[in-house]
Amino acid sequence: ACTAETLAAALRAAAAVIAGHRGELIDLDRAIGDADHGENMDRGFAAIVSALDALAPKTPETPAAVMKLAATTLISKVGGAAGPLYGTAFLRASVKLGDAAEVDGPLLVEALRAALEGVQARGKAVGGDATMVDALIPAVSAAEEAAGSDIAAILTAAADAADKGAESTVDLVPRKGRASYLGERAKGHLDPGARSTALVLRAFAEAAR
Ligand code: ADP
Ligand code: MG
Ligand code: MG
Repeated sequence: ACTAETLAAALRAAAAVIAGHRGELIDLDRAIGDADHGENMDRGFAAIVSALDALAPKTPETPAAVMKLAATTLISKVGGAAGPLYGTAFLRASVKLGDAAEVDGPLLVEALRAALEGVQARGKAVGGDATMVDALIPAVSAAEEAAGSDIAAILTAAADAADKGAESTVDLVPRKGRASYLGERAKGHLDPGARSTALVLRAFAEAAR
């Protein structure tokens, strides 16, 4: 099961993965946006690590408290579309985790579902709009199908589905966010937010193994 400690470690792992893919995310956003997605994500996740470091050697007491710290950090440190959207996802997940000391498979799946619903409530994107939602929808479905498995298997199923969902944005015409300004011209490009979502889920899955 996932504790506050293992969740904090997973967020640190995600920060390292995002830092390693900073340039790639910038390039993806340069093609159809304003070339800042890698910078935004790296700044936000580095700030999460700093917030965790500031408390070390202690960790927030519950997984929910860890997620809340991450959410408020992202919301306060990241401008642009992605910061508030990721922040909302983490905040909704935090609320769903409640006061549980450990997150089991079914609770993890509920938290992922709540994260998706938060992103959609905030950004109003539906599947097929070529956003991070196109990575999250299949990820949550795959997680729900794997709900009886252990945490690592659930997250791996979610990350696999998110990779495929992100790839699907290449053939879509963006209907939300900056890329939508380009219309048909944005076709043929991977959505940066869908890519970063898949990267974060993969980092969580690897950290859970
Ligand atoms: P900005 O577009 O403000 O520069 P970022 O570059 O950090 O912000 O993030 C862009 C990503 O945010 C997009 O690739 C897309 O996945 C996501 N995004 C933008 N608008 C929305 C929305 N309304 N709903 C869901 N995701 C969105
Ligand atoms: Mg951008
Ligand atoms: Mg921007």
